[in-house]
Parts: sequence; structure tokens; C-alpha cells
Amino acid sequence: MSPLISATLESAAARSGCSAVELNRFNQHLHTLPASQAARINPYEFADSAGIAREQAVDLFVHCAKLGLFDLEWGMVCPLCGAVVRSVSKIDHVAEDTVHCCICNKDAETILDDTIEVSFAYSPLGAAFDLHGDYDAYQDFFTSYSHPHGEQLRSYRERYAIADVKIEPDGQANLPLILKSGEVYRLLCLDTHSGAEIRVIEKDKLAGTSEAPRLSLSEAGFSEAAVDLPVGASTLILNNHTEQTVWIRALRIDMDEIQAILSSGSAQYGPRLTGKHLLNNQAFRDCFALHEWAPDLKLKLRNLTLLFTDLKGSTALYDREGDLAAYRLVQDHFAALKKAVSSNSGAVIKTMGDAVMAAFPSGECGTAAAVAMMVAMQEVAKGRKDDVGLKVGLHAGPALAINSGSNVDYFGQTVNIAARVQGLADAGDICMTGVLNDEEAIPALLIRSGYEGHSEVATLKGVSVAERVYRYHSAQSS
Ligand SMILES: [Zn+2]
Repeated sequence: MSPLISATLESAAARSGCSAVELNRFNQHLHTLPASQAARINPYEFADSAGIAREQAVDLFVHCAKLGLFDLEWGMVCPLCGAVVRSVSKIDHVAEDTVHCCICNKDAETILDDTIEVSFAYSPLGAAFDLHGDYDAYQDFFTSYSHPHGEQLRSYRERYAIADVKIEPDGQANLPLILKSGEVYRLLCLDTHSGAEIRVIEKDKLAGTSEAPRLSLSEAGFSEAAVDLPVGASTLILNNHTEQTVWIRALRIDMDEIQAILSSGSAQYGPRLTGKHLLNNQAFRDCFALHEWAPDLKLKLRNLTLLFTDLKGSTALYDREGDLAAYRLVQDHFAALKKAVSSNSGAVIKTMGDAVMAAFPSGECGTAAAVAMMVAMQEVAKGRKDDVGLKVGLHAGPALAINSGSNVDYFGQTVNIAARVQGLADAGDICMTGVLNDEEAIPALLIRSGYEGHSEVATLKGVSVAERVYRYHSAQSS
């Protein structure tokens, strides 16, 4: 390893709060990865194999990416076949609505917590990594690292491939094919993520020309959506008009078998870093200021947990102790809250006066952070006689990620409701809506942490239907 890489890793480790042991494990594992895997690293799988906590590994990857040692990639994944339809280095290049999967010939909705998968490419690999070295590695590169049916689909694609050819930039190649009557075939090019249908025509029905059938490929895909070829042996002439080497494969399509694979077993993705996880990672938000983003960015989230806090008694505090002392207490409280958020996979989205808005990938993380905040707040207010206390509210639901001018903010009714629920809390209360309280693990976590709860029906301003709100309070402090 070069001294420069070594120094960069050490600097990133220091910034991410990573220990010497963790850094050593990270470093060793990184250098045992084959180039094809180092070109698209699943940070969770990497952390598990290296023996590092996942959150710690993600923080280290993010700091390394900031220093240029890794390229951060946002992959748009087809939920049906797991193909990485497109991979971009900036979140504002993620398609807002849908992307088209050429393998399935279907549109897939882009959703940050579902079809957006983040990976890291080890940049020193650079040109040393030959993407077209072997087909398996090439195919893996363009396939989700955590798709629930990944192995079966990979095996399907191997068994049903009938021919493939590699073509240099501006090159031409012949693809020899033997086609059976009544079958369906597709041509696929993963480099440009494009596909074309091969229609098998009986020889006597094929429009009589002596010219050999041909297709060309540009950055925009194949020149035609379909090509007619005769039953039996034939040759398709392919032209590569792109500036890169491409691999084109012909595949027989058996929808019954594909359906059987997709409906078998669990539909659960393996461990993966989704777009939602990364947006709610404090290190990512701290490292990548997003003022250069597209101002009209709007990306959908299916389920985001939002937490709002407020500090009770802070106005009286300014009155009594003066601005400077009050300011110090408020700042200490912000620092303690931020720590409680980031150590539970969340990020502080913004602060407003003495209030904090934070977001989490799951309700459990949000609740754990709320409990940690209450503990931290006791420490901050230790030795004080006044009733400075924290009021916390949580809610979860769909939201839009938008550009707030300097970073990602969240928008939508879920945000409004979370803020209103916080408004119902008194000092020391953690209030939440039914969607969170219905998740078994959440009340269990609170009870384990010494909280008691009861529910009430509340009318929230700006919300047409009354919400059932669950109010939890520490049994020791009451
Ligand atoms: Zn697909």
C-alpha cells in the first residue's frame, strides 16, 4: 500500500472516531478483496466480514470518500431482477420518478429506502480493474449486491445465455445464434443498460432481403427495439458506436421460470446501505454539504422516522441566568443530542431555536435515540434546581427528500405530524403516534429502559383525523 493511501486512511479513521484495531481490520480486509468486488463494495457486508460495527464502517467509508479514496455511488436497482439500472456519483443525478430496466423491460420506481442502493468503489483501482475481464464479475458489477433472489437469477442467466460477444469502441462483431421457433430471446448490454428483443420468424415469412441483419449500439442503447431473425442458425452483425468496450449477450427468456424464482422464498433484501440510510448518516451530512445540488431535487421515501425535540424552561432560563449562561447550556444540550442521534443511525436535519429535528432509518433507532437523549439531558442539567427538561415527539411515514439550500431536508405531512406530536409532550415525555407504538420492539424498548406509557386521542393542528398518541415517561423521574 502506498504511503499516500495509508495516510488518507489514517486521516479518515481519525475523523470518523475509528479505533486503531478497527482501522487495521478495515485495511486488511480491503486489501484481500478481488478487484471486481473492490469496484462495488457493499459497506455492510464489508463491515460484517471485517469484524467492524456497520455504522462505524459506514462512517469510515464516508470520510474516505470525502478524501477521495473511494467513489460513492448511488445505484438505481430494479426490484424485479436486481439489475443496477444506472449508477451515479451524485444524489441529484438519481432519477426522480422511475428508471427503465431493459432486462425486465419494465419501469421501476425510484424510492430512497427501497430501490436506491449505495456502494463504494476503491478509487486506487482505477484503470487497473478490467470490467470486461470475465463475464461473472462483469455481471456482478451491474447487479444489486443484496437482491433476495440474486443467486437464483444469476444461475438462470448463466443457463439461458445462448451467445455473447465483446466489442471494442467503434468496433464491429458477428454474433452467431441458433434460435428455436416459439421461443423468446433478448439481447442485453449491461454497459449501456439497454436491451432489444429478438423476434424469431419462420424462414419463409422473413421479408426477403439478402442483407445480413444488423443492430448498432450507442450510449442511448440499441438502434432498434427489436430485430427479426430466422429460425435455426443465423448471424447478427453488431456495431458498437459508444466510446467504451461493451459486452452483448443473447438470452432466452422463460417468464414462467423467472416468475417461479421471484415468488420463491423470502423477498427480504440482504444487508445493504440504502439511500435513506446514507441521507440519515451524520458523517455523510457533515462531510458533503449539498449547496451545489439541483435546487428542485425531490426524492421519495416510503418510510422515514422523524423526531422533534424542544427544551422546556429555556425562556425562563435566559431571563434568570442571562444570555451567556443560557447559551452555554443550550449548546451543551445540542452537542449531547447530536451524539445520541448519530450513535443511533440518525442525523440532525436542522435546529430551530432550542428545538432539534432529526431523522432515522427506523422507528427503533429513533426511539433508542429519544431514550439516549433523555439520559444525556439529565447529565447536562445535573446539579440544576430548575425544571429544564426535554420534550420529544416521534412519527413515521412517507416523506420527500428536498434540497433546503445547504443540505437535505424532509418535507410532507409526516414531518408536520411529528412536529405536532412533539408539541403535546411535557418535560421528560417521549410522545409517539400509533404507527410507531404498534411496532412491538418500540414499546418493549421503552419499558426495558424504565418508561411507563399511556395513550390518548389528540387532535393535531392541520391534521383532519384525530391521532392516537402514546405518551411515555420515565418511571423513576415521576
Ligand atoms: Zn429488471
